[in-house]
Amino acid sequence: MPLDKVDLCELTWPELEKFVVETLCWKRFRAQQIWRWVWAGNVSDISSMTDLSLRDREQLAGSACIGRLRTADVRVSSDGTTKFLLQLGDGELIETVLIPSDAPQRPGDLTVRMTQCISTQVGCPMACSFCSTGKLGFRRNMTMGEIIGQVQAARAYLGDTRPERPIIRNLVYMGMGEPLLNLDAVLDSLKTLQHPHGLAFSPRRITVSTCGIQKGMREFGESGLAYLAVSLHAPNQQLREQLMPRASAWPLDELVASLEDYPLKARERITLEYLVIAGVNDQPEHVRQLARICSRLKAKLNLIPYNPTPGTAYRAPTPEELLRFEKALWQKDITAIVRKSKGQDIEAACGQLRAAHEAGVSRA
Ligand code: SAH
Repeated sequence: MPLDKVDLCELTWPELEKFVVETLCWKRFRAQQIWRWVWAGNVSDISSMTDLSLRDREQLAGSACIGRLRTADVRVSSDGTTKFLLQLGDGELIETVLIPSDAPQRPGDLTVRMTQCISTQVGCPMACSFCSTGKLGFRRNMTMGEIIGQVQAARAYLGDTRPERPIIRNLVYMGMGEPLLNLDAVLDSLKTLQHPHGLAFSPRRITVSTCGIQKGMREFGESGLAYLAVSLHAPNQQLREQLMPRASAWPLDELVASLEDYPLKARERITLEYLVIAGVNDQPEHVRQLARICSRLKAKLNLIPYNPTPGTAYRAPTPEELLRFEKALWQKDITAIVRKSKGQDIEAACGQLRAAHEAGVSRA
């Protein structure tokens, strides 16, 4: 990408307005035109902005460009889960996954609906012991344009061109990286995704998942820009230190206390994510400890069966083990829902595809 040009995908709405007025010397309202093409229209080339005169397009192309991500690999699972390996401008690779929604649809409505899982960092500094991305280490934060670029790459692949009837209905910030450690770009991405002249995503269709970072949690909550999910994974401090050595620097009890005070909207609940690792965090004492935590919070518990990654000694629970754990939680009046693991045949868990790619075992 030419260094002297402004990448339109990296401008927030106020920045684009400023660019239109000060650099292009156009009327302010014309920012809407450009914004619509970049986000709703998903064009890759300024020459495609056909409601701008030829002269205006030439002027714009003289000082701006549109930085889209390159799709390096796409894999479609037998269950419809689709995983993309995308290349950023500097050659770094990140992952995003499309998951077909299970949500009940109206009779006769054959529309496919997808949830997209997006990344926020290249690699991750948190080094959780069960996570492939954690094993990569941290390389860098992703920019706002790169974060939303994942949605644009998936929309282009699906032919999802009408924001008023989107195929990608829900977004979860649960891909590579820790969103609260890249808070500014994450908040900008949420504002841009929700802007009415662009993709117009509702905050009720977006969830941001964190391993629990003290700095930023409050600011994120007060922004009201998305729901919060917290990766709990262990119901006591000692086990959490083993599974999530860095995240547990914020003691579990303090994390839970801050969730008690977290600003929730009407009818909103915090999602607690709990990776179920057989024999490690699914024992009767864990059920009791989880019950104590859940009794303090307005929360629901999502159980995620561990998706095995090479190089770790952990084991996924059998369906019977998972059901036993789930039933034990119900008996304690905990709303626990098992999230079916999808896309196992395409290495769809966090960081697995890039790891496989680097190990030279890509089957694409
Ligand atoms: N850093 C954020 C978001 C990225 S991880 C967070 O920790 O929430 C998103 C989710 O994927 C987390 O709940 C994480 O624990 C889960 N995950 C990571 N590795 C996994 C694996 N091998 N199997 C199943 N889920 C995994």
